[in-house]
Amino acid sequence: MEFENTIGLETHVQLKTRTKMFCGCLLKTGCEPNTNVCPVCLGYPGALPVMNKEAVKLTVMSGMMLGCEVNRHATFDRKNYFYPDMAKDYQISENGSPLCIGGGIEITRADGTRKFIRINHIHLEEDAAKINHYAATSGVDFNRGGTPLMEIVSEPDMESADDAIAYLTALKEMLVYAGVSDCNLEEGNMRSDVNISIRPVGEKKLGTKVEIKNMNSFSGIHAALVHEARRQRECMAHSIPIVQETRRWDPEAMETASMRSKENAHDYRYFPEPDLVPVELDEATIEEWRKLLPEKPEARRARMVEEYGIAEYDAEVLSQHKENADWYEAAAKGLDKKTAKALCNLFMGDVMALMNASGKTIGECAMPPAALAALVKLSVAGTINGPTLKELLPEIFEKGGDPEQIVKERGLGAVSDTAALEAFVDQAIAANPGPVQDYKNGKKAAAGFFVGQVMKLSKGKADPKIVGGLVAKKLSALALSLVAAMLVMFAGCVSFTPQQACMFTDHEGNVVSVEYGQSRKDHVSKFTAPNGKVLDMKTKLGVRVTLPDGDEFLAWECMNALSVGTMYRTDNEKWMYHANGISCRVFKKAVNPSTGEDDYLEIFEGVICEGPKNDGE
Ligand SMILES: [Zn+2]
Repeated sequence: MEFENTIGLETHVQLKTRTKMFCGCLLKTGCEPNTNVCPVCLGYPGALPVMNKEAVKLTVMSGMMLGCEVNRHATFDRKNYFYPDMAKDYQISENGSPLCIGGGIEITRADGTRKFIRINHIHLEEDAAKINHYAATSGVDFNRGGTPLMEIVSEPDMESADDAIAYLTALKEMLVYAGVSDCNLEEGNMRSDVNISIRPVGEKKLGTKVEIKNMNSFSGIHAALVHEARRQRECMAHSIPIVQETRRWDPEAMETASMRSKENAHDYRYFPEPDLVPVELDEATIEEWRKLLPEKPEARRARMVEEYGIAEYDAEVLSQHKENADWYEAAAKGLDKKTAKALCNLFMGDVMALMNASGKTIGECAMPPAALAALVKLSVAGTINGPTLKELLPEIFEKGGDPEQIVKERGLGAVSDTAALEAFVDQAIAANPGPVQDYKNGKKAAAGFFVGQVMKLSKGKADPKIVGGLVAKKLSALALSLVAAMLVMFAGCVSFTPQQACMFTDHEGNVVSVEYGQSRKDHVSKFTAPNGKVLDMKTKLGVRVTLPDGDEFLAWECMNALSVGTMYRTDNEKWMYHANGISCRVFKKAVNPSTGEDDYLEIFEGVICEGPKNDGE
């Protein structure tokens, strides 16, 4: 018999308030035990609780983010139970009328389909103290006692461990975005009780549910759900009844173990908390709080793609961390789309690499958003070349500074004066008859050699793009017979007449030359992109690429189906990727590790260059 899972989550989220739920004690981690305590949170008889308005506000804001209905009249109740971590012998919670009702969150599954996970309600309560176990004794630390907790109770709409993780990930993203909680799992800011039952496919009635308590890692929740779903199926297969109970996840043994049979709600003997007045919310207050809500992450991604012309994937990576997205937007504000996209590429590549290497967040580095924007503007305008950009970035990241001033003071401006560059090209050609002969003999790598020479002569300040064009022009003039040779070489494919040339520098500083021409023949074929998608492609342009190791090829197919840029395949199995005239990458075909087929693309060189404007048609 086929079974399906029914999974529901009760997620406790610690709210980001300065003080506790019902007293003025500070919420701080890392303090000596029992130093942030008072008669209220120690549960002294007669001590009276006072509600923390900020906690109510943050809960209501969470509800609004999740599309819940806000209850205008919420009450607190006492949940009675005895345990050493709760000195009053009851926990103040909301049982009958919680602050937020309904709502939900949409998840995206691995196959791209979407599912809406409904939320039953969100209620506010206080956390228990923390019990620490030592060699011979145990101690209770009341610093955590009374922490405001928001409990988000989902409907049992999830069908797999993957669904549960997608739900928690989306929830966490939204709550961190709203500034409601840090959702730091290591610090126990976000903990979930997981409910799972199984039932035969097609059966309406829910199976007997098992609860796994207090899970504080996504990987643990995933493993526990996978295990429990399997255990329950095995029980069914052997006619062993599934007991309604609370189980515990043992990460060492990688299995769940029974803790106790599940209490029913009435075991807690809820009754209204007589020491607190109900929370009455008027429309004006709710509207005031609604204005504090941030843009939802998904809406932000769509807007960023539209506003800055960046790829969907880039917008997704950026928006995963609100700080990164805020920083990027602060930098990209007011820039044209081309510059904003170049800024995005630099942020996603070099800046993130600097963040990883230094262990600093973008907010902790010395570079303000305006400095990166200024640096990218200098590069896009051609005032500085690629190598200078790469040289300045780590310095500004580390120490800050005004890029325009630095470039001016140190004379780092790119040499784009054609006459000066032409003189360098002539000088390089005159000084190197050997490579000139190589080029005449058809060794195209020699072009790269001359670009390198000119870069040296200009002390790295020449614009490699312009140099590339000049070198190509001068060498072609020296070797007119070459075009004919090329025509013979690729006679079976396309005729190739370079119309435009470009140079780019690979990660080792080698100059790679690229020449663009219009192809005459249209080719259509299919290949698998690195994301596994099979794409059709059509030929528009021919591209000749010369690699620093002397290898060269003619790229005769280009592909426009990718969201960013185009891809070319060559007749000797190498690939060249060109993204909207900004970045170029050379790919080579490789064996796909998952299928064993020879249909996979591997990045061969990571490079940046400026390409011809008519590319990507
Ligand atoms: Zn207190």
